[in-house]
Amino acid sequence: MMYFGRPPVGRFAPTPSGRMHLGNVFAALLAWLSVRSRGGYMVLRMEDLDTQRTSEEYAQLLREDLIWLGLDWDDETPPQSQRTEVYQQYFDRLKDMDLLYPCYCTRSQLHSVNAPHLSDGTYVYPGTCRGLTQEQRSAFDRAPSWRVRVPDKLWKFRDMVQGGYAENLVRDCGDFVVRRADGVFVYQLAVTVDDGESEVTEVVRGMDLLSSAPRQMYLQELFGFRHPQYAHVPMLLAPDGRRLSKRDRDLDLGQLRSKLSPEQLIGILAHASGLTPDAAPVSAKELAQEFSWDRVRTENICLEAKDLAIL
Ligand SMILES: [Zn+2]
Repeated sequence: MMYFGRPPVGRFAPTPSGRMHLGNVFAALLAWLSVRSRGGYMVLRMEDLDTQRTSEEYAQLLREDLIWLGLDWDDETPPQSQRTEVYQQYFDRLKDMDLLYPCYCTRSQLHSVNAPHLSDGTYVYPGTCRGLTQEQRSAFDRAPSWRVRVPDKLWKFRDMVQGGYAENLVRDCGDFVVRRADGVFVYQLAVTVDDGESEVTEVVRGMDLLSSAPRQMYLQELFGFRHPQYAHVPMLLAPDGRRLSKRDRDLDLGQLRSKLSPEQLIGILAHASGLTPDAAPVSAKELAQEFSWDRVRTENICLEAKDLAIL
């Protein structure tokens, strides 16, 4: 079921493990434009499940960077690190539905030749621990991760950028982990619960997360949440074709803010994405007046050396 006829609810969901890099800014800009161009509501949420790498200092820098860019939000919901008890309740619901089982496979077992690997480097879990007896389970002396059984069903949706996408979880993923052996809930569960409870109607994020959408759609259905609309935006690549990452210090906002105005930076990104005919400076607010997903390029965007020279 999709949402029609009422203002959209979108979200920023950054991981506070460093400054935003250009790719993060790009996805945040499109998420904001999609919502604000239709008078919608914006939620901010810090995805800090990995408490080793994340900090409140970075979270504060992210907020300041978004404000500097002119990308505002209406509400900030609690960070994922504070939501363990909530995730546990949803985990228990899956358990009550008899959809979970403990998995004792080690990392090396999972990456062994028996597991068919997909082109993106992930593997299909072959169901090794699905049928273990209680006796076999108690023979292991380590804490298990917990997997959810997936149905043999085709998950189809129309992505606002990429068009039609379909995946069968049995064939493309297998039963997947919802809680790790160390007790930490995984991204798939946390993001589904958070978006569902915030009544998010559209999820805008990088192309690299496209294949995780069917897992979230499955969990949404189990938890009784409506499916949001998805927009998986192209990745920004450096001129040599390499993906930008938080290691590219030269392209993080700490550096960029010292060289550019927000309008200059947004002008470059708007042009690279296909929204404007040239890279003239423009504010997010101005762009929102004529934003349309139809104009956003679908393929990964290789930044040109001359763009980087401006940066
Ligand atoms: Zn296993």
